[in-house]
This record gives sequence, structure tokens and C-alpha cells, in this order.
Amino acid sequence: MKAKMRAAAVHAFGQPLVLEDRDIPVAGPGQILVKVEACGVCHTDVHAKNGDWPVKPALPFIPGHEGIGRVVALGAGVTAVKEGDRVGVPWLYSACGHCEHCLAAWETVCAEAQFGGYTKNGSFAEYVVADPNYVAHVPAGLTPTAAAPLICAGITSYKGIKETGARPGEWLAISGIGGLGHLAIQYAKAMGLHVIAIDPSDGKLAHATRLGADRVVNPQQGDPAEAVKKATGGGAHGVLITAPSLPAFKQGVGMTRKRGTCVLVGIPPGEFPTPLFDVVANCLTIRGSFVGTRGDMAEALAFGAEGKVKADIELQPLSAINDVLTRLEHGDVASRVVIDFAGAA
Ligand code: NAD
Ligand code: ZN
Ligand code: ZN
Repeated sequence: MKAKMRAAAVHAFGQPLVLEDRDIPVAGPGQILVKVEACGVCHTDVHAKNGDWPVKPALPFIPGHEGIGRVVALGAGVTAVKEGDRVGVPWLYSACGHCEHCLAAWETVCAEAQFGGYTKNGSFAEYVVADPNYVAHVPAGLTPTAAAPLICAGITSYKGIKETGARPGEWLAISGIGGLGHLAIQYAKAMGLHVIAIDPSDGKLAHATRLGADRVVNPQQGDPAEAVKKATGGGAHGVLITAPSLPAFKQGVGMTRKRGTCVLVGIPPGEFPTPLFDVVANCLTIRGSFVGTRGDMAEALAFGAEGKVKADIELQPLSAINDVLTRLEHGDVASRVVIDFAGAA
């Protein structure tokens, strides 16, 4: 009889994940097998479960793209990692390595990219197969539960901030202070930026202040674009929208300073109205940003290893996954839940 593992899989969009026993996967040539120690739960897992996006994963699939664990088996020909290494299995599961984007170190937009916990089974399971060329290398000194949120929420926030082009001493507005946003505040402060945090939850805003935000705005208490413009003397030089909510996008463009850049990172399904005259006349840049490259990953993890960025985590067992996803959907997670496989399953 084959050895089994516990896993949580999506069998139908919009339905709870099914907790089940599955055969432990085998690392094929060029692949590795990772024994998962921890996996963060991202709002993207909610979108994946609900089938929110135009490109849908094939059913059934195992979500989870903040998995951290030890390499326990190497497929034929693998030399990039060795057994016992602690790695992260990220959203960018693999890419082709030779297209124009891969050659330009923009592997995130490779047409052949595969996505962990989406087009490939992810880490809401005791074991996961990974591509050794695309795993994150977890620095010594970071525990699995501390590292997990950095390999999606961390890298995405960090890369998004870089993409705003905001410089030390300038203002960064962060809309959405959840898993991504609470890390974005810390990266931004470590990068010398002034931070104004926007979230409809007063609890999250209080947390933002504790994490170093210079100003906070609740969009339910008046127009947040006007509030940001007033507080920053004309708008934020960079705006990072992590909110999984469409109204936040028009508001984010409205709070961007003249010649500033508004980076879109949240992916609620749908479209948002763009105030064309304002974008043109104020020379604004609106830019999408999708996770980050392997280079960004190493940088994002280094902030964690140096103690400059620390995820606030709530540990839960895999058996609680459906409750966690429901809470995330309703904005009831303080920062990041991490599934702890070392605890009871
Ligand atoms: P989260 O649920 O942990 O946090 C979302 C936060 O947004 C919450 O604090 C919520 O209160 C706040 N919010 C809700 N409505 C708002 C509004 N109108 N204005 C301001 N804030 C508002 O989610 P997360 O895990 O941080 O993910 C956020 C989004 O980013 C999701 O859509 C996710 O799919 C996306 N995401 C994108 C990438 C990427 O590569 N672009 C990577 C990871 C996640
Ligand atoms: Zn994610
Ligand atoms: Zn490619």
C-alpha cells in the first residue's frame, strides 16, 4: 500500500475544501519532494477556491502557495538543492527559462509559468512536489511559520513598493492592511518611506500605527483620496493597492500625487472605472504587479532574516482551513493565518 498524506483540496468552485487522504506524490525527473512544515493562507486561496478569475485551475486541486518545508527526496538529475534544505514553494512554481521575459529576469510574466496551489498542487498538504529551480531558499534564522507569509504576501508587497518608484522620504499609501498590507508597512518603513495606511477596519488601522504607519485613513469616514491628499500635501508619490475590493482601486488612483505611480496588486474579480482626465492631466502611472522574481524573493526574505520585517501570524491546523478561508473572505483575519503542520493536523 502507498504511503498517504493529509491534504485539503478544491473539488468544486465555491464549495468548502475537502480534507482527504491522498497518495504522497513522487518527485519525477528534475523535481523535488518537500515535507511541508507550514503554509500561510493568502486571500488568493479564496479567489482560487471560488473560481473568481478568468484563468481557472483544473479541478480538483490543492491550494496553498506559502508552503515552507524540508526537501525529503530528489528526482533524477536534481543538483540545485539537496535533501534537508529548507525551501519555500511559491506562487511562481516554474517558468520556461528561455522566453524574452525569462531572459529579462521577468519570469513572473512567462507565458508558460505554472502557479503553485493553482495550476500545480500546493502546500495545503503534508507533502508537495516542487521545481528546484524556482523554490525560495529560506535563510537560517527564520522559522518555517515566520518565513511562510514572506514567500507570497512579503515578496508581493516588497516588489509592489519597488514598482511605485517612491524614494526615501516620500509618501507611500497602502490600501488594505491585511496579510500583504501589514508586511508592506514594514518593508516601506525599512525602505525609508513615509506611510499612510487605508483600511475600513479600525482594528487594522490601530495595528498599522503599531507597525509604524505615520498616518491612517478609514475609507468609511469620508473620501479617502481627499484625506490622503490633505495629509500628504498633494497625494502619495506611490500607492499600493492590496485591497480585494473594487472601490479601493478608483480611490487609489485618486490619492496618487501628480506624476506618481499607483500599483495594483489586489485582484478582486471585475473592472474599475478610471478617471481618464485626471490620469492624463496629472501624468499618473497605473501599473500592475504580480508577485516577484527569484531575485525579489531573496531580497524579501533577507529583510525577514535581518529582523526588519516580521509577519504577525496566527497558527491553525490544516483541519481548520475552511473556517480560515471564510474568515479571510469576511475580513476577520488580523494579519496572516499560517497552517502549522508541526501541530495536530
Ligand atoms: P487580506 O484579506 O489578508 O487583506 C485584505 C485587507 O483589505 C483587509 O485588511 C481588508 O479589511 C482590506 N480592505 C477591504 N476593503 C477595503 C477597501 N475598500 N479599502 C481598503 N482596504 C480594504 O488579503 P491579502 O492576503 O492581503 O490579499 C489581498 C489581495 O491581494 C487579494 O485580492 C489577493 O488575491 C491579492 N494578491 C495579489 C498578488 C499579486 O501577485 N498581485 C499576490 C498575493 C495576493
Ligand atoms: Zn498569495
Ligand atoms: Zn519564459
